[in-house]
Amino acid sequence: SRKPIIAGNWKMFKTVSEAASFFADVKGKAEVDGVESVICAPFTALPSLVEAAKGTTIAIGAQNLHFEDNGAFTGEISGVMLKDLGVKYVIIGHSERRAYFAETDEIVSKKVHAAFKNDLTPIVCVGEKLEEREAGETKNVCSVQTVAAFQGLSASQAAEVVVAYEPIWAIGTGKSSTSEDAQDVIGYIRSVIAGLYDDATAAAVRIQYGGSVKPNNVAEYMGQQDIDGALVGGASLEPASYIALIEGA
Ligand code: 13P
Repeated sequence: SRKPIIAGNWKMFKTVSEAASFFADVKGKAEVDGVESVICAPFTALPSLVEAAKGTTIAIGAQNLHFEDNGAFTGEISGVMLKDLGVKYVIIGHSERRAYFAETDEIVSKKVHAAFKNDLTPIVCVGEKLEEREAGETKNVCSVQTVAAFQGLSASQAAEVVVAYEPIWAIGTGKSSTSEDAQDVIGYIRSVIAGLYDDATAAAVRIQYGGSVKPNNVAEYMGQQDIDGALVGGASLEPASYIALIEGA
């Protein structure tokens, strides 16, 4: 009985006023019983979105955090600051951060711990590159990233983690994974978590698929036994599309 979770990852899109306009359009609509609706916005839009989301069932998330609570880290934002705003979720280790901002598995682990320290729920991204897929390395890559992300977490913390399986070749390309292939990898990731903890803990972890999810394919993923939602980029940016994703889940 894992509650499905659809999260929009806006990436580096939307000003404060654009975010406010989006929220006004989805309020009351991207709210469906039995599906958790999350918007992960740029830092600048978070204060007003958290305010706007009060009294709704939509949760607000950040897309990154620094692993220290504070310090001489020019330009960074900490978990303490996000918690203070009332942010609930934080995406950690997105492939764009791993690729363009040199985030390693070790940094991802530190960030996951920083999230828990500040009562934020991590959405941890794992997934293989095209070359890795073609080399038959998909499961190995996902296993290494998953083990690193759960390093040092108690079973009760582990159960709260949201994992997003995002094959890199499927992100922003329109080439989504088939739901069967996504289920195969996600079922495997769940078995890795069971190996680290136990079956009950693994059964509690929500695992999303991400990569070219659209309103017209979201239900197919949701129909797979181990897929508990989606992390959505492009299709989360327009109100009508975001509402359709939540309704379609
Ligand atoms: P798209 O939905 O645009 O493929 O992006 C997926 C993603 O990276 C979400 O984090």
